[in-house]
Amino acid sequence: EATRKKKPDWLRVKLPVGKEYAKVRRLVDEHKLHTICESGNCPNMGECWGAGTATFMILGNVCTRSCSFCAVATGRPPEYDEDEPRRVAEAIKLMGVKHAVITSVNRDELKDRGAEIWYQTVVQTKELSPETTIETLIPDVKGKWEALYRMIDAGQEVVSHNMETVGSLYRRVRPQAKYDRSLEQIRLTKEYGKRTKTGIMLGLGETKDEVYQAMDDLVENGCDILTLGQYLQPTKMHIEVAEFIHPDLFDHYREEGLRRGLKYVESGPLVRSSYHAERHVNV
Ligand code: SF4
Ligand code: SF4
Repeated sequence: EATRKKKPDWLRVKLPVGKEYAKVRRLVDEHKLHTICESGNCPNMGECWGAGTATFMILGNVCTRSCSFCAVATGRPPEYDEDEPRRVAEAIKLMGVKHAVITSVNRDELKDRGAEIWYQTVVQTKELSPETTIETLIPDVKGKWEALYRMIDAGQEVVSHNMETVGSLYRRVRPQAKYDRSLEQIRLTKEYGKRTKTGIMLGLGETKDEVYQAMDDLVENGCDILTLGQYLQPTKMHIEVAEFIHPDLFDHYREEGLRRGLKYVESGPLVRSSYHAERHVNV
């Protein structure tokens, strides 16, 4: 298609191969787990799975929302599986994961937003692998703060909630979410005593000033860690890439984020919210 922009060289990635990759693949399949690495077509699968790292997606693989950048299927999810926390905890132990990242689809139809499954997954993972640090990437609970508090009270080291984009693009990119509500979720997580983290995708048409504004808003709301990466269109049905951001600009944003008061910024074309997550557990 003529209008489709060609990917620049810095976005080329190696194909996933190798023994460690094969082991992760087998454990994920055997335990009937879902990973955001696969459903998100993540370009880092070779690197992460080769290093024994994966991002597990709990509460099924069908989401009640339809964010325009996301490759996870939208629909009415089937009953959730009460055995899922055990299977995730077991796979993490068998994989010998040192830092586990856990996320979930949105389950807006559930009264507790899936908080109990969240809680159990983290608690059981800690039971089986006490040395493993855990980052939970929590969805928008739509202001149901009691659900949030249950989700984050399970002993995880880092709690992230992805802003995904700047305020002006919410309607197009995250139609069922609100910029201010997501900031509030981060603020309440911080006030609860957790290390906080968020991720923003670039290349959706945001301006530099809007990125700076988002950084300031994050600092004001107690966010510790920020990841910035290039948005890539998973299929033609998804929102188009507006721009491929040059690696130099990613470097500039890292410095700018730190200057504005964030404690840690991971910024680069292939950065995903779970990329190198083990490096900023203790910032
Ligand atoms: Fe999976 Fe995250 Fe690594 Fe991508 S960056 S492969 S989603 S762990
Ligand atoms: Fe994808 Fe999360 Fe949006 Fe669901 S809420 S469509 S999983 S980004």
